[in-house]
Amino acid sequence: TESYPVKISNKSTAQEFLDSFDNFLFDCDGVLWLGKHLLPYVKETLSLLEKLGKQAIFVTNNSTKSRAAYCKKFASFGIDVTQDQIFSSSYSSAVYVRDFLKLKPGVDKVWICGEAGIAEELALMGYDSIGGTDPRLDEPFDAERSPFLINGLDPAVRCVVAGLDSKINYHRLAITLQYLQKPEVHFVGTNVDSTYPQKGYIFPGAGSVINSLACASGREPIYCGKPNQNMLNTIVSSKNLQLSKSCMVGDRLNTDIRFGVEGGLGGTLLVLTGIETEDRALEENAEHPRPKYYAEKLGDVYENLQ
Ligand code: PLP
Ligand code: CA
Repeated sequence: TESYPVKISNKSTAQEFLDSFDNFLFDCDGVLWLGKHLLPYVKETLSLLEKLGKQAIFVTNNSTKSRAAYCKKFASFGIDVTQDQIFSSSYSSAVYVRDFLKLKPGVDKVWICGEAGIAEELALMGYDSIGGTDPRLDEPFDAERSPFLINGLDPAVRCVVAGLDSKINYHRLAITLQYLQKPEVHFVGTNVDSTYPQKGYIFPGAGSVINSLACASGREPIYCGKPNQNMLNTIVSSKNLQLSKSCMVGDRLNTDIRFGVEGGLGGTLLVLTGIETEDRALEENAEHPRPKYYAEKLGDVYENLQ
């Protein structure tokens, strides 16, 4: 409708926002912090929510870390959260392998093109994985010498999980493609994010790596992070959320805000500390959903109530 989105820019809009919801689902990077830098008044906002008895849940498309590693990241900022409050695309990809693909733990294997978080979440569910951070993949690719080809491909591999890898190289792409050429091997992508922002720069995100594999294989992955609703279903079933009393807070329209809107959440808040600009927040564009609220930063919820 016309009056949307509402900007949180004074006491009454901040109060209305808080009163409307019992549960807040937070995207992490671009909302709580940027890389290693916590954003202003984030801690105060989270403390306020806790004092008001609101539930906070953290939903990140970052697949490089496990939920346990994410807990440590929160602790490094002095924010106390428990692992059961955290949902990452590494975890949602492992849930997909278990609940939808129904791979057999201890029998079926996963080939990973990505960082440690994916292997860690799979291991917690009993799955063996190969590839990933194996240092032999750091070597330049040589079709005659790659240890991943010498004895043939591993026939136990039933699925490829691909995500962002800061060590992505031709060797990793080349072996991943061998598994993707087998039609019986499933193709899972952790998240669609084309980019991510850090230190005032924009860097290639998981989507750019996964798309190079999609290009080479001619296949389309199933993406497990936001906005895939499987991730929301996992959250809703384990946290017992009432959708109408829940709000998704994010910095990206095509992942976070779409996730909340398509999931039928009561509200969405777009913050402008990450990917999107005020123009994008306000524009009417069929390409992306509109948020119900927007704010310059998450901390405005707290600051406007002082
Ligand atoms: N993927 C990677 C590898 C990242 O490093 C980040 C941000 O740190 C993201 C995705 C986006 O994470 P979020 O969904 O918390 O914004
Ligand atoms: Ca983000």
